[in-house]
Amino acid sequence: MTAVPLKSPRLARLQSSGATVFLHPCSVCGKPAGFGIGVKLRKDKLGVWYCGRHRPAGKEE
Ligand SMILES: [Zn+2]
Repeated sequence: MTAVPLKSPRLARLQSSGATVFLHPCSVCGKPAGFGIGVKLRKDKLGVWYCGRHRPAGKEE
């Protein structure tokens, strides 16, 4: 079984529209995450993402 790094966001292409989307699954459960911590895209830091349920309290930057 291939290990998938859950802490890394992934790019995926939607077959219906051809658009590239930015997927960032929750690092705990793997569901679509809306909260990114430590994200600095200009420095290639993709951060760690969490869904609303697993979002750590008080650790936002
Ligand atoms: Zn989660």
